Amino acid sequence: MNRFRVELIAATPNPQQCIYAAMHQDYSEGFVAADRADWPEEAKAGEICVKRLLAGERGHYGPLEHAQIVLNVGWFPHSVMQQARTHRVGVSFDVQSMRYTGDRIRRAARGDLELEEVFYLRPVGSYSDRQGKKYAYTEEQRAKDLQLCQAAAERYAELLDAGFAEEHARGILPFDYRQHFVVSFSLRAFLHFMDLRAKLDAQEEIRVLCDLLWPHFVAWAPEIAAWYEKSRLHKARLAP
Ligand SMILES: Cc1cc2nc3c(=O)[nH]c(=O)nc-3n(C[C@H](O)[C@H](O)[C@H](O)COP(=O)(O)OP(=O)(O)OC[C@H]3O[C@@H](n4cnc5c(N)ncnc54)[C@H](O)[C@@H]3O)c2cc1C
Repeated sequence: MNRFRVELIAATPNPQQCIYAAMHQDYSEGFVAADRADWPEEAKAGEICVKRLLAGERGHYGPLEHAQIVLNVGWFPHSVMQQARTHRVGVSFDVQSMRYTGDRIRRAARGDLELEEVFYLRPVGSYSDRQGKKYAYTEEQRAKDLQLCQAAAERYAELLDAGFAEEHARGILPFDYRQHFVVSFSLRAFLHFMDLRAKLDAQEEIRVLCDLLWPHFVAWAPEIAAWYEKSRLHKARLAP
């Protein structure tokens, strides 16, 4: 079962109007909040922002930083969390640390929780290495790896039962234990993240994360999403 999940926690209401107001203040003599009644409605504001700030690679990304979205990401492997956290500007993370949590690993060791609820292994299938050479991940190999996860979970439980701290015991866990986190992006940082992590040479699992983030963005800022999808998504057009 694919357990990966992304849920919306909160987002700036009317993000495209908010970006419009910021842009509009740049060239307005007046105080834009006083003219709120004259602002275009959300969809129209989005269209205007695309035209004046983004279309034709204008690159006026600054006003996009005012809108924020907060999402809960669940059940992704540790490697994805590590990769995501390399993005520092306009992004913030709170991650299940494994210093204060770890009971789920103990429960998996006892069989009270499915092992794959706490550890991620790729599905059986055909994969390629970084040079494009193909190889197979078979049922037998995967079963062997699951055994290793079981043994690690049991040893982890043994250490906790013996009074070891979670931060000490976690060192023996397989690298891709599953971790939940909360991430917030400015709208600009969200697009930057998609530039770098939805492109085809990014790791498969973080591309799946991008696929799950994307519908939240489309629902939140549809006009900007439509522009981005057409002009940049998956095209590896990287911002500097
Ligand atoms: C496919 C892929 C593979 C990767 N592999 C590895 C790897 O093997 N090992 C590894 O360590 N990392 C790796 N990275 C991470 C990468 O090296 C960057 O650390 C990461 O992408 C964050 O860079 P960013 O441009 O998104 O920075 P962000 O922190 O998101 O910043 C956004 C933008 O702000 C500007 N900015 C931020 N900080 C500065 C600064 N100090 N000075 C000037 N401008 C700044 C830049 O324009 C930057 O693009 C990989 C990234 C990708 C996408």
